[in-house]
Amino acid sequence: MRVKLFSSLLIFVFISLFLLWSFQVFLLDTFYLQLTKTRMANTVAEIEALETDKTVDYPKEIFKIALENEFCISVFGADGRIKARADVGGGCLIHNLDDKSLNSLYKKATDNGGEYFHRAGMRDFRENFKAKVPVRDRILLVSVVQGEKGPLVIFFDTATSPVKVIKAALTMLLILNSLVLTVLCAIIANFLAKKLSKPISDVNRAAKRLTHGEYDVEFTGEGYREIHELSETLNQAANDLKRTDKMQKDLIANISHDLRTPLTLITGYCEMMRDIEGENTPENMQVVIDEANRMSMLVSDLIDLSKYESGAVKIEKQSVDIDFLILETVQRYRKLMAEDGYMFEYDSHGPTFVDCDKKRILQVLYNLVNNAVNYGGDDKKVIIRLCDSESGKKRVEVIDHGEGIAKEDLPYIFDRYYKVDKVHDRTLSSTGIGLAIVKNVLGAHGAPYGVVSEIGMGSLFYFEL
Ligand code: ADP
Repeated sequence: MRVKLFSSLLIFVFISLFLLWSFQVFLLDTFYLQLTKTRMANTVAEIEALETDKTVDYPKEIFKIALENEFCISVFGADGRIKARADVGGGCLIHNLDDKSLNSLYKKATDNGGEYFHRAGMRDFRENFKAKVPVRDRILLVSVVQGEKGPLVIFFDTATSPVKVIKAALTMLLILNSLVLTVLCAIIANFLAKKLSKPISDVNRAAKRLTHGEYDVEFTGEGYREIHELSETLNQAANDLKRTDKMQKDLIANISHDLRTPLTLITGYCEMMRDIEGENTPENMQVVIDEANRMSMLVSDLIDLSKYESGAVKIEKQSVDIDFLILETVQRYRKLMAEDGYMFEYDSHGPTFVDCDKKRILQVLYNLVNNAVNYGGDDKKVIIRLCDSESGKKRVEVIDHGEGIAKEDLPYIFDRYYKVDKVHDRTLSSTGIGLAIVKNVLGAHGAPYGVVSEIGMGSLFYFEL
């Protein structure tokens, strides 16, 4: 990038210099010629005006005009005799040409519609003009206009030497200018290239470390807004990667733990029942079955989640009595948890129909109630409410009076594998998958959902259908 920036700036300077040279030096001749021609043509009009004015001293006026413009001028009348001549520069061509050459110029002008403009170089003098003394590099204009008594022929002549001097001076100045500009540009380009590319190189270096798994890397690109924003985005990405990486590692540790514990129990109980007489009891057998069920639940949760996330699950909506669904769930939990002293509160308002996939919403209800039981308070109370939401939907709320969830954890609890309690507690059989399934199912329904929670006050999970 540095090399590119540096070379682009240099190319820009070279193009600017080239244009400067082209206009100031190479095109100077053309401009000068064009300008002289216009000035000569304007003077023709002045001389024409003198013709009709009898009060002026004609030769003197011609001399004045010649002096003002630094042209040599010769005016020939209709009779072919000279009317006025002004030689102001010295080394003039028209005053040193013989009659034959003057005549041939006059002829060229008449052939050319009354005007003949010519830059006379060395060759011209050798081959076309017969000058009495050596004369070089002149600009000529021969103009034939209609005077009072017939055609009037006006010869103009000026030297090209001023443009040569200016050109030489400009060339010198431009050489100096180009040298200074090139050196200055090289210094500035080098400085700019370094300054512009440094933050990008810094970010690039940090990004390389990130790809090697260094999630603690910090992107500090400063200098201009885009780089600052890129750094912030990359810092966010690095944080997310770090979190995901940690969650996946936790999941593997937890799942291995969750699978190994029941397997150890199952193997232990089976060996005991095989080896020790009288241990082959229905109670021991029940332990084996319970542990196998726990494993199966975990595995099916994982399969469900991966199905949801890959989009393999199709939501089949139908009109469902959500009130009845909640009643059923509550009754099941009451039966299951009666011995543990749990209370499930629900005020039924009679049949309430919503459009949803019954099986999936039942899973959402189970997951939320399960969490309310697992993370609930000492009052062992779970409240379920069905009410109208502000947007006119039916809102289901599952409330507990447990420890609640910290503000900093709230944005993540619906992420897969995310668990607030980092110490793995098997009695809760926590996998961090339940709420991820809730999120997927409700997301597929387009149903609003969320949680309101405060540490020490309990939690309220809700969804709207
Ligand atoms: P799991 O319960 O298997 O860990 P979930 O996805 O159901 O996974 O929940 C994710 C995390 O959210 C839980 O580990 C828990 O820390 C927190 N959580 C969920 N429900 C509640 C609740 N009702 N009260 C407090 N914390 C909760």
